[in-house]
Amino acid sequence: MTKFSVDELVNSFSLDNVQLKRIADLFIKEAESGLENDGQPMTMIPTYVTAIPSGNEKGTLLAVDLGGTNFRVCSVNLNGDGTFGIVQSRVAISNELMVGTSNALFGFLAQQVKKFLKQHHEDHFAEDKGPEHVLKLGFTFSFPVNQTAINRGTLIRWTKGFDVKDAVGKDVCQLLQEQLDKLKLKVHVAALVNDTVGTLMSRAYCSPGKQETQMGVILGTGTNCAYVENLNAVTKIGAETVLKLSESSPMMIINTEWGSFDKGCLTIGQTLFDSILDSETLNKGYHMFEKHVSGMFLGELLRLALVELHTKCDFFASQHSDALFKPWKLDTSALSFIEADTSTDLDETEKFLLASLHLTSTLAERKSIKLVVDAIGKRSAHLAGAVIGALLLHTQSFEKMPQVDVGVDGSVFKFYPGYEKYIRESLRVVVGEQNEKRVAIGLAEDGSGVGAALCALVA
Ligand code: ADP
Ligand code: MG
Repeated sequence: MTKFSVDELVNSFSLDNVQLKRIADLFIKEAESGLENDGQPMTMIPTYVTAIPSGNEKGTLLAVDLGGTNFRVCSVNLNGDGTFGIVQSRVAISNELMVGTSNALFGFLAQQVKKFLKQHHEDHFAEDKGPEHVLKLGFTFSFPVNQTAINRGTLIRWTKGFDVKDAVGKDVCQLLQEQLDKLKLKVHVAALVNDTVGTLMSRAYCSPGKQETQMGVILGTGTNCAYVENLNAVTKIGAETVLKLSESSPMMIINTEWGSFDKGCLTIGQTLFDSILDSETLNKGYHMFEKHVSGMFLGELLRLALVELHTKCDFFASQHSDALFKPWKLDTSALSFIEADTSTDLDETEKFLLASLHLTSTLAERKSIKLVVDAIGKRSAHLAGAVIGALLLHTQSFEKMPQVDVGVDGSVFKFYPGYEKYIRESLRVVVGEQNEKRVAIGLAEDGSGVGAALCALVA
């Protein structure tokens, strides 16, 4: 059909400067109400982490990570100069354990720690060691918890196929500690760690000299961010707690859970494809920001747009593809792949569409598809950049420090061509050209390993 409708489709994903500023304004409002009250759209979870590494930290610490199908155990050696060494092992969690008892699951986790120590830290089992030899452990636990202290958090609910019923409502650190104690291991669960916090901590440690790391951002399967907040702003934990904590530190890291920002899509907008995608998800009407931004969803947005081009604009004329009509058929790597294709005939895109959707295409169609891909990827990055900017304005970072550092982890940021460039475009709109230049954005290494270890150390 007409070129006009392709343009329309592409434009439906674009956010102009006025919108980007409105997004930033609303974000600051929602963030502030989340710091003041419980039960707000953005949860703004206090992490009780009140120190940022400087790069001088030294020591050997343990870190474990339970987040999905695997359990990772590692020991991290912080060398005190922004570098570290890491030894690790990984084991699959059986389906049986995922739906069994907490005794069985956490007992298994403790067994893995023991096995790891036997293999890599035999000295840990020497008889004559006193309490100073207790190893501190950082526990990355990627399920919703209600955190009440740096090493205390009750499980709200399981996700990702786990269903260990008797663990819900219990403190997961204590569940692990009890099992470690049963095995007589001299290991102390010192910190419960969210991956965003680990990302911030790891970035702060690894970029010494730049001690102004203010944020850890995840742009992977999901999206989320933790940042350094002024303790006095976290009023919902109560004046007494604030006063007590402020004796030792003026700040606390907050886990924003920004995936749930702008639930009503008042500022981020909602295309036809966003609505259809939302209707295909289990948590309809929730996490709308995440559904516009993160890796789990961008491939499906592209597929839905291709269906529209096929049915309304005659793309892939007189061809039929079952794959095209299969929800979740495309991964976000499809967008990276097409975005990266700079050949004049877009040959790579042709091969890709043939292999993944069994469709042949004309050059004109591929050019349009590339514009659609770019629009979806750009919107994702523009949204991320706008809310990063909003948080930096909220924390008055530009008034406080010459250079602001943002650590990022996740395959979307790592692999999508030009993603950082797009983040910077909207960041510039929100914080201004001069300030944007003062923001360093870079990959953080291994948040759930070295980041979790650092949380355990500063606990
Ligand atoms: P996790 O978030 O689970 O820790 P990742 O950071 O690797 O893991 O993110 C996985 C997500 O990244 C998936 O949703 C996938 O679609 C997306 N992804 C994987 N490869 C690429 C790529 N080359 N370009 C863009 N996104 C990708
Ligand atoms: Mg990750």
